[in-house]
Amino acid sequence: MAKKGSRPVITLECTECSERNYTTEKSRTNDPGRIELMKYCARQRKHTLHRETK
Ligand SMILES: [Zn+2]
Repeated sequence: MAKKGSRPVITLECTECSERNYTTEKSRTNDPGRIELMKYCARQRKHTLHRETK
């Protein structure tokens, strides 16, 4: 069962407090650069912008 393409696991980091709150997979094809998502930050108890680390 060959998986087509690459779906690396990435970490999402809060851009406001640098807490690493989420890991997810992404498609290199759809998201060639760093992805940014609005996610809930437990430390700040609100939604903030999270960015792919590394
Ligand atoms: Zn935060």
